[in-house]
Amino acid sequence: MLKFISFGSGSSGNCYYLATANDALLIDIGVGLRGLKKNCKDYGCSLSDVHHVLITHDHADHIKSVGSFSHDYGVPVYATQEVHQGINRNYCITKKIAPEFTRLIEKGKTIQIGEFRVTPFEVPHDSSDNVGYMIEAEGVTFCIITDAGRVTDGMKPYISRANYLVLEANHDVEMVQNGPYPQFLKERILSQTGHLNNRESGEALAENMTEQLRHVWLCHLSEENNHPELARKTVESVLRSYGIIAGKDIQLEVLKRTTPTGPYELAIE
Ligand SMILES: [Zn+2]
Ligand SMILES: [Zn+2]
Repeated sequence: MLKFISFGSGSSGNCYYLATANDALLIDIGVGLRGLKKNCKDYGCSLSDVHHVLITHDHADHIKSVGSFSHDYGVPVYATQEVHQGINRNYCITKKIAPEFTRLIEKGKTIQIGEFRVTPFEVPHDSSDNVGYMIEAEGVTFCIITDAGRVTDGMKPYISRANYLVLEANHDVEMVQNGPYPQFLKERILSQTGHLNNRESGEALAENMTEQLRHVWLCHLSEENNHPELARKTVESVLRSYGIIAGKDIQLEVLKRTTPTGPYELAIE
């Protein structure tokens, strides 16, 4: 059975774990390695069972420990060429990814990585590049979309195909507008290459989800410009206006920012 754990979600660090019975991967490693090791152990899994790393984009909250992890555990790291170049240029990343562990992916091209069939796809964001991932394993389609300035037509088919979906619900627009951030930062967050707000997240779901969708986790919530309850309620109310009832038609949860959420067993009977 496919297993999913979130080891951190948001600007303090992102890291997601996905495992089959014999294989495991991490999506982004923006959390500290020591904490990750401990959390993993608490969940009865080991970082030495992780055989692949997928990176969405080259912001520090997604890549902080990827070089050290790849080096210490000898694990290959998959990312687009632009993201790999961005990681190499990033002065926050002291340990770089060695050439022998660098793996290139291309948007729209499906590749088999261990027991996972992985399709990266374009997600607009103000990093060197950014991708979402559709991951198929053990008959389940898992999809992750984070740090999305907007939902493009190219992203919609992936939402439609998902059985399990991690989707950004970063902020409440009014909280950003009335909040303490400097103007340039407000504009960045709200821009088409910034982050997805609660309402946009709900609409993307309501307009594109199919009956195949079981469970949605809202991710990358802002600490200053959102509340878990607000995110959930906003998405729920958008869904309701489309006749979709959270808790009945789909399960809806919010991932915690700095503590692990899960584990979840992903299966379709
Ligand atoms: Zn981020
Ligand atoms: Zn980002």
